[in-house]
Amino acid sequence: MTANLQREILTLTIWMFFMLIVGLFADAVFLFLFFGLLVYVVWNLYNLNKLSQWLSKPSKQTPEASGIWDDVYYQLYHLYKRQRKARQKLTSILARFQKSTQALPYGTIVLNEFNEIEWFNPAASNLFELDNARDIGQRIDNLIRIPAFTRYLKKREFEKPLEFIFNRKKLLLNVTAYGSGQYLISARDVTSLSQLDDMRRDFISNASHELRTPLTVMSGYIEFLQHKADTSTEEPLEKIQQQILRMNTIIAELIELAKLESSAVVDHMVEIDMLALLNEVYKEGLSLDNKEHNIKLIISVDNQEIDITDDQYKNKNFMLRGSYEEVRTAVSNLLVNAIRYTPANREIKLFASVTESCVSIGVEDNGVGINYEHIPRLTERFYRVDEGRSREKGGTGLGLSIVKHVLDRHDAYLHISSELGKGSIFRCDFPVSHTEH
Ligand code: ADP
Repeated sequence: MTANLQREILTLTIWMFFMLIVGLFADAVFLFLFFGLLVYVVWNLYNLNKLSQWLSKPSKQTPEASGIWDDVYYQLYHLYKRQRKARQKLTSILARFQKSTQALPYGTIVLNEFNEIEWFNPAASNLFELDNARDIGQRIDNLIRIPAFTRYLKKREFEKPLEFIFNRKKLLLNVTAYGSGQYLISARDVTSLSQLDDMRRDFISNASHELRTPLTVMSGYIEFLQHKADTSTEEPLEKIQQQILRMNTIIAELIELAKLESSAVVDHMVEIDMLALLNEVYKEGLSLDNKEHNIKLIISVDNQEIDITDDQYKNKNFMLRGSYEEVRTAVSNLLVNAIRYTPANREIKLFASVTESCVSIGVEDNGVGINYEHIPRLTERFYRVDEGRSREKGGTGLGLSIVKHVLDRHDAYLHISSELGKGSIFRCDFPVSHTEH
């Protein structure tokens, strides 16, 4: 109990005692007690009314009051002061935030849960031709009428940025969800960056194609010379031929990469005959391996190994969709790597596992393994753990980069686990929800 409340109770007691004495003298105790209470209630109502008036328009000047009401005004005034300070601070933070977002080179738009525009900065106004007076409160998908953008907003899956063309500009757009159902869009013009990227890609592709012809001519001459070779020239000619073959492989893989980068998006509606694909890669692996390893093909559906010669699996759709050729190249690269980096006579498993939510295809080997520090960099172009070994085995350092590109184009994920000296597992996870459209 506060001191003020104690004082208030004491005042009320004295007041009621006084009314009791007067009542006793006047021989009307109840009447005077009732009158005393009525005065007390009216006085409180009067103060309550004053408080209500002050609350409707709070100011520094609190109304004159006594007793517990003075205490109430004191507390309320301090609460009001604290709130005013917090509001001022918030306003200044907001002003600073608006100033910095105004200066941002990225178009920034704030949307509410109904995709209606709440705020945007001048850069967004330039990129999307937005007008403050006209477009605030408008649904953004009514203003930016690009199907890819509408789909992206509708899906509410914003982990990956969206690239699309708007007003002949290539835009890269990120969406971040915040607060209660609000979204922050940040967009930037990547037209010139994309043009540079196209130039780089075209250059690699053109250079690779240009190199092919002289290499074919050289290879022809070497073959001709090999027919006429004697013991002293046989070995150098053989070495030259090997290097020409190596260059041919590098060029073919560079062209493959350039093709993957520049070709249109994969059609996720096309079914891939998974069993045919695995069989093809398996047979190709067997012939390349020449019985050096024990290569097995293992396929399981819902964790049950299946016999692929069984007729019930003939032409079965395993929900793997996209480009047969691209996925075949990726899986084949993984098997070729396993053959390259596994000592002879050991086991290599080409496996596929199908569940409700995921189709996984991969290769497990008992080979040399990879130290964990290299794993995040394996899909970089020309990254090799052991350059000497890769070269000696005919590697180019581009195989896993191709795998990564193919998987990205299929919304799939490459999972690598490996232990040095024990072996590796390279697994491609294709999410079924993405391929099911
Ligand atoms: P490369 O043509 O050199 O094999 P990749 O891009 O296919 O290039 O692979 C990159 C590097 O990853 C290889 O040089 C090798 O060091 C390592 N690597 C790939 N697959 C395996 C594997 N199954 N076992 C051990 N190391 C591997």
